Amino acid sequence: MTDRLKNKVAIITGAGSGMGAAMAKLFAAEGAKVVAADLNKDRVNEVVTNIAKDGGGEVASIKTDVSDEEDIKAMFKFAKDKFGQIDIVVNNAGIMDNMAPIGDLTDEMWKKVFAVNTDSVMYATREAVKEFLPKKQGVILNIASVGGTNGARAGVAYTASKHAVVGITKNTAYMYQKEGIRVNAIAPGGIKTNIAQSMGKNIDKFGFDRQSQGMATSPEPGTSEEIANAALFLVSDEASYVNGAVLPVDGSWTAY
Ligand code: NAD
Repeated sequence: MTDRLKNKVAIITGAGSGMGAAMAKLFAAEGAKVVAADLNKDRVNEVVTNIAKDGGGEVASIKTDVSDEEDIKAMFKFAKDKFGQIDIVVNNAGIMDNMAPIGDLTDEMWKKVFAVNTDSVMYATREAVKEFLPKKQGVILNIASVGGTNGARAGVAYTASKHAVVGITKNTAYMYQKEGIRVNAIAPGGIKTNIAQSMGKNIDKFGFDRQSQGMATSPEPGTSEEIANAALFLVSDEASYVNGAVLPVDGSWTAY
């Protein structure tokens, strides 16, 4: 390891599983002090314990519901109190929808998915900008999705929620470009994680069958570590001129 994040403090949401856990591990190994936040306190505690056991760096956990603005504010305060500064914010926590197209969509599903996938990014980005503006420095990374760039990867709620994350990414990158704040997104393809658990049992058959045609073109699924490696580059100073980018990490899925 090469200390690529030495002297940086990073907040990572959804760090109790999948990509968030892999980023917490890699960022800590690269010298960052990491705040690992997740709704599932047990899982995020386990991630932190395993990193500590492996001698992998400094990580602190906090239970956070990213759809709750007060929790987001508490997460920022925790990071400041614990480590004295915040340099990197990764908005990673997210859930799937039930594949429903708009004709079958309930208001409840739309609101739930937007609260976790999109409102969360708005709250945390607003908070991060407050933190970064005075020091004219800071990095935000949003974990969007190929569902944030393409239409045949999920239901309408997830697809729209991730397209909105891409919009927040590009607009914020542009707005604060002269203020030293960089904002990028990764659009992962199919990655082996626990995300399917968030789909629930009430899958929309019509929507599922339609999106399956998009899914069928997917290469072999990737790993959380492959996302973490791309994330490490984007949050590091090596990516100093990368701003407003949406990087597909999908094994070429969106290239055809
Ligand atoms: P995962 O389910 O393995 O991990 C997501 C984590 O987010 C879990 O630990 C969960 O507890 C947490 N979480 C859920 N709701 C939360 C909330 N309200 N507040 C705080 N934490 C919450 O899934 P993953 O695949 O690692 O997902 C990470 C991100 O990647 C998500 O934004 C997802 O939409 C995106 N993504 C995943 C895939 C894929 O194929 N796995 C593809 C594209 C994009």
